[in-house]
Amino acid sequence: MGKRGFLIVISGFSGVGKGTVVKRLVSDYGYSLSVSATTRAPREGEMDGREYYFKSREEFMNLIDYNGFIEWAVYVDNYYGTPRAFVEQELALGHHVILEIEVQGALNIKRQYPDAVLIFLTAPSAYELKKRLTGRGTEDAGVIEKRMRRAAEEAEDMDAYEYIIINDDLDQCVQDVNAVIVARGCMLEEKKEFISQMKAELKAL
Ligand code: 5GP
Repeated sequence: MGKRGFLIVISGFSGVGKGTVVKRLVSDYGYSLSVSATTRAPREGEMDGREYYFKSREEFMNLIDYNGFIEWAVYVDNYYGTPRAFVEQELALGHHVILEIEVQGALNIKRQYPDAVLIFLTAPSAYELKKRLTGRGTEDAGVIEKRMRRAAEEAEDMDAYEYIIINDDLDQCVQDVNAVIVARGCMLEEKKEFISQMKAELKAL
C-alpha cells in the first residue's frame, strides 16, 4: 500500500479570500478539496455540491448522529461540517486533502489527525479585512458586524496555527501556501518509511 495523504487545514478571517486561494491550490497543484455541509443558505452563484452541500437543520443533525462528519462546528448561527467518507477515501489513495474550515474545526482535526498542517490566512490589516468584507456585497450590515466580531475572537486563536500567511498578492499567497504543503511532505516524520527502505536498499546493493 502507498503512503497516506495528509490534511491541509486552511482557516482565516471571513472575507480574507480563502475561497479564491483554495480554488487556485486545487487548479494549479491538483490537491483534493473537501466540500463541507452547511445549514446556511446558498449565496448567489453558489451551487449545491460545489461550494457546499446545503442541508436543512434536520438533515445536518442526522448526519451528526450517523457519524457522518470528522468534525463540525457552529459559526455565526449556522452549522458547518466536514463529511467523513470523502476525506478518508482520498487520504487512503495518498492524496492531500484541503479543508477550508474555521478555528474550532481546525483544532478538532489536529487532535484526530496529528499530521494535518494548520495554515491561517490573514489580510494585511484589520482595516483591509473590513474593506474586503464590505466590498464583497454578499452580506448585509448586520452579518458583516457579526463576522467582524467573530474575526476578533478568531484572532485570539491565531497562534494555535502552525503557519500564518498574509493574502496581499494572490499569486504570492498561493505559492506560499504550496511551499508550506511541500515542506510538510518533506518532514522527517513523514519520511520514516522511506528512510528504512533506503537503508535496506543501500545495504542490499
Ligand atoms: P461561509 O459561510 O463564509 O462560507 O463560512 C463561514 C466559516 O465556516 C468559514 O470560516 C469557513 O471556513 C467555515 N467552514 C466552512 N466549512 C466548514 C466545516 O466543514 N467545518 C468547520 N468547522 N468550519 C467550516
